Amino acid sequence: MIRGVLDQVLGKITDSKPVDYMTTPQNNSDNISISDSAVRAIRNSLCAWFAVNQRELPWRQSYDPYQVWIAEIMGQQTQMERVVAYFIRWMELFPDIGAVAKAPEQKILKAWEGLGYYSRARNIQACAGILLDQYDGRIPDDPQQLLALPGIGPYTAAAIASIAYNRPCPLLDTNVERLFFRLIDLDIPVKQAPAPGILRKLAQEMLPVDNARLFNQALMEFGALVCTARQPLCATCPLAGICYAYQRGTVGLRPVAGKKRGRTDIVMACGVIRRDDMVYIQQRPANDLWGGLWEFPGGRLKEGDTPEQALRREILKETNFSVFRLRPLATVVHHYTRYRVTLHGFTCLPRKSSKIPVLHSAKRYAWVPLSGLADFPFSAGQRKLLGALARNIS
Ligand code: SF4
Repeated sequence: MIRGVLDQVLGKITDSKPVDYMTTPQNNSDNISISDSAVRAIRNSLCAWFAVNQRELPWRQSYDPYQVWIAEIMGQQTQMERVVAYFIRWMELFPDIGAVAKAPEQKILKAWEGLGYYSRARNIQACAGILLDQYDGRIPDDPQQLLALPGIGPYTAAAIASIAYNRPCPLLDTNVERLFFRLIDLDIPVKQAPAPGILRKLAQEMLPVDNARLFNQALMEFGALVCTARQPLCATCPLAGICYAYQRGTVGLRPVAGKKRGRTDIVMACGVIRRDDMVYIQQRPANDLWGGLWEFPGGRLKEGDTPEQALRREILKETNFSVFRLRPLATVVHHYTRYRVTLHGFTCLPRKSSKIPVLHSAKRYAWVPLSGLADFPFSAGQRKLLGALARNIS
């Protein structure tokens, strides 16, 4: 079967005598290997495609290592269009590593507001401090040194080393994984052995050692724009002739999905406590998921709770404030990777005895005029309540 497809494929892609494309010795998919001529054909096709079709992205103008680093961190779990807007604003606020290292944490978090996963922003700042202290403000080009920095894992280290410095480090993101799965028509779930090893081997074998910057970006861009998850552009794809999944009609089945983890539902209530024209907010402790961000106090509903009951209890628990005159403000739903959070927001008043909060789950608090709330960084779910607040209270 493989040989039949290969003969057909390779005549087309190389425009010459068919040669072996892929071999699977002893039927062991762990030993998949691609012939040199096929590797050359894939490289040439992808690089030619990239030269014409690459998106104009700000960090591609100079491949400055600082810019590549920030773009890579922002690009984790975020669509490119959003990354570009955040990236431009970030570079205006923090044009170099020194500016990041010296900025107040609140300014960093505010610039990151809406991107989520705020530990990434805090790690960037911690990393900037180390780069100033230990690397004279430069970003190292050695993947091992990069890996030792906060917030930089194997993927980001390889991305910085190859894209900023053209070092021969193979890259695998979800777009590249999907492309490889289809090219070799691998019918194993993505994370299941031996799939990860096969993908790493393919990425290593295909990488041109003297042109990693171009090739890695071509792979990722091609996966993002052509070999997409839902509607791959097979009809016009320059790799259609060499793509096993296309030849076999299995594109829609690749990659094989692993078992999906269900999404957990969380229901919460939180209160906008008002005193005169001021609003109470508190800042989450540094070691928390949303560490450093601000919030309205509240917490989870327990079984049998109404949102009002939960709100009174949680505010008391968090601040020692007793509140009354609860008025529904808005109910917002926000999706995180593994959670769906329904947040019931209320406005409320503190009783006279509740003057100074005792903080049990926050590191500090502030009474802020409504017009001043926009200066503080909030999580995405809480920001939806801010929008409702602006509409409902004048
Ligand atoms: S032919 Fe289709 S599935 Fe195969 S690489 Fe091209 S876009 Fe992807």
